[in-house]
Amino acid sequence: MPTMNAQRVIADLRELAALTSTPDGAQRLAWGPVWRDARAWFAAKVAELGLEVKTDSAGNNFVTLAGASPKTVIVGSHLDSVPNGGWLDGCLGVVAGLEALRMHAGTTPPVTLTLVDWADEEGARFGRSLLGSSAAAGSLKIDEVRELKDRQGTRLVDALAENGVALDRMLDAHGELKRIDARAYLELHIEQGPVLESLQKATGVVLGTFGVERNMIRFTGQAAHSGSTPIPMRKDAFLAAAQMALECREIGLKHSTPGAGVVCTVGVVNVEPKIVTAVPGTCEISLDQRALHADVLAAMLRDAKAASERAARDNNVKVEWRELWRINPRPFDPALLRLCADAVREETGDAPHLPSGPLHDAAEMVPHMPAVMMFAYSSNGLSHCKEEDTPGPHLETTIRAYLRLVDKTIEYVAVT
Ligand SMILES: [Zn+2]
Repeated sequence: MPTMNAQRVIADLRELAALTSTPDGAQRLAWGPVWRDARAWFAAKVAELGLEVKTDSAGNNFVTLAGASPKTVIVGSHLDSVPNGGWLDGCLGVVAGLEALRMHAGTTPPVTLTLVDWADEEGARFGRSLLGSSAAAGSLKIDEVRELKDRQGTRLVDALAENGVALDRMLDAHGELKRIDARAYLELHIEQGPVLESLQKATGVVLGTFGVERNMIRFTGQAAHSGSTPIPMRKDAFLAAAQMALECREIGLKHSTPGAGVVCTVGVVNVEPKIVTAVPGTCEISLDQRALHADVLAAMLRDAKAASERAARDNNVKVEWRELWRINPRPFDPALLRLCADAVREETGDAPHLPSGPLHDAAEMVPHMPAVMMFAYSSNGLSHCKEEDTPGPHLETTIRAYLRLVDKTIEYVAVT
């Protein structure tokens, strides 16, 4: 295996942080000047290897080291950050991918190695996450983003144009991606949650990204005077919603198995008429359910519907559901999961597996090529803030495990 230098990756990450952060954190907001600075820094690093950055129609940056075969292993993540973001979210995967290129630059690897920096993964400015990777995946609906504006009133279409991207041509990136004979997509990312920390493990194998069922549930009873309406005669919509919320927690616990936890969250409660002396007549709650397996997610949704009907019956109110958004689970490729587990185990002696609650660019690649992710330990589970961190020794271990995965995958793709 060519020599890897995890310390060099960490030094590069610190250099990028110094260039693109304020005391409040990383400021690489997509399509803005600091993001462009980050990309210029990245292009200069790539030029040192005698390679060049090519931009697709959606603003995603690709660097290709041609191998003996056009079969391609893609590595990468995203350089953009949320405002006041962490120093590792996104750029860890890009800079570790740069080290993978460095390890092979000047040679002809058995297969082609391509590094990608996806544009606007965060959606922090215009509200659409995975913008660049969804264009490349062909799943982006242009009309759904056409009217988006940022808080200053700048239109997405104009921000894109400022960066040489034409909104109506963004989906051309899909044809461009399909021209790559992609056999694997490998993404390293900080976990952004507390699981690896709770296991005291530096790094872990990501099983896939959660599917999501997101609904609003509206209970309708009858508002009434709280002083004169006896409790058994009430149609209290809030109590129905409260009963439902408690049942949702039980549904989440019931469907969680070790290594395949699920989550159910009631995050919004709108109760009317909001008067201290009135029985609540309507109460609407949100329910966000996530699971890694489609059958489990479907069972959770069925259980929640049954629970809502029970809650409505018990409280003498009506219930209606309204879907906000859903996405299928995106489980990662079994062969790459095995390689990832081998790489993590060789570096740390153990290979914890965990699902990803947040979506990542890798989720957009799942329908198009075998994909897998590796996670790095997140101190205190914090991310999207300046406190985000992976302690030095854990960071080094994770980077080494990831670079091992890249080389294992190159060998595997060469012979399959
Ligand atoms: Zn990220």
